Amino acid sequence: MVDNSLSPHGGVLVERVSPPEEAGDLIHGLPRLAVREQIAHECVDIAYGFFSPLEGFMGEKDLDSVADDMTLASGYVWSIPIVCDVSAEELDRLGVVTGDSLLLTSQDRPLAVLEVQEIYPYDKERLAQQVYGTTDAAHPGVQRTQAYQDRFIAGPITLVNPPVINPPFDQFWHTPRQLRQTIADLGWKKTVAHQSRNVPHSGHEWLMKGAWLAAGADGILVSVVVGEKKPGDYIDEAIVLGHHRLREAGFFREDVHLTSILLWDMRYAGPREAVFHALVRKNLGCTHHMFGRDHAGVGNYYDTYAAHQIFDTLPNLGIRPVPVQEWWYCPVCAGIAYEGLCGHQEQKQDLSGTLMRSIIQGGTEPNPLSLRAEVLDVVQKCAKQYGFGSPFVDETYLEKRTPVMSMPVQGCTDCTCNHQH
Ligand SMILES: [Zn+2]
Repeated sequence: MVDNSLSPHGGVLVERVSPPEEAGDLIHGLPRLAVREQIAHECVDIAYGFFSPLEGFMGEKDLDSVADDMTLASGYVWSIPIVCDVSAEELDRLGVVTGDSLLLTSQDRPLAVLEVQEIYPYDKERLAQQVYGTTDAAHPGVQRTQAYQDRFIAGPITLVNPPVINPPFDQFWHTPRQLRQTIADLGWKKTVAHQSRNVPHSGHEWLMKGAWLAAGADGILVSVVVGEKKPGDYIDEAIVLGHHRLREAGFFREDVHLTSILLWDMRYAGPREAVFHALVRKNLGCTHHMFGRDHAGVGNYYDTYAAHQIFDTLPNLGIRPVPVQEWWYCPVCAGIAYEGLCGHQEQKQDLSGTLMRSIIQGGTEPNPLSLRAEVLDVVQKCAKQYGFGSPFVDETYLEKRTPVMSMPVQGCTDCTCNHQH
């Protein structure tokens, strides 16, 4: 059981990164299509195998199958569409047809080559209904679906110009191959993944500790989702460095805890996104994945524990869900207490976002039963260093932050062709 858990989804880790010396030839003369950040992130994820067994953007058969049956056409479980959209006008302008290759660019620099196997229109309303269980335009995943342009282009991609991950994220950027090696070097046989989009408070700390015990794990991989931000979110820098601080300060031993980043724009697809998170972390080498309350949910679209229940309906994924309930502060227990154990639910004090905000803004003293002083210190430093004075995303941050990922000038500087470098 545990042994087969260690293999990537589909059995083989996908790696589609061109050697630098071949990249120039690969992209020579290709029509160029500028892609937005979401697609650029997904190209990188596909190329390094985060999304194994996907080798590119989904064709119609895969997409139908994912939408209706939560599997790829090959039969492997897959729950979230990974598609590249383009407008019919843009396709006309490029003159691209099935069988052509296309150079996808990001930040005006080459990123990846897409071998166009299919170009197809899709019923977005239906797609939204199947994936999100709703067509309500207030759902952010539905919004994202509705915003797709009218054609999907599908086919394998090859990364021709690996991005540079900027500080402070560079120290947390590990490809699946690298992470698998690190996990092997640490001797972890069982690794439990923790998905995060938050600065860790004491409830998160205990969630991780509890899941580690429940899984009988050797290590915890904190996988921080880095992607599109909304005003009011924590800045990414505070999230990764906050998690890392828990290890530096010894709340987790150095040999049991690791923080990494995942480039991903949240879909808020609730249970379906939980399945997706499990598959991606399986590709990173994790054997277990913890799922708390309302995992990847938004609003009231999904049951609080829908992400726990969905795994009962699926075959063995090769990564085991570790369903966990909430941790809160209980004055009677005199500590952080677990929903499944504490009998003083009337007195519980939620470790809510509101409370954390009050601590961070100086209205409430931090304490080890809410937010670690060490973590608060990091959050405040990040506000100064990266957040233009605030640990929360605002317009200034969105406009002026250093991007997580930058595209270098592409490698074929000594060729004599007319690439528009
Ligand atoms: Zn209690």
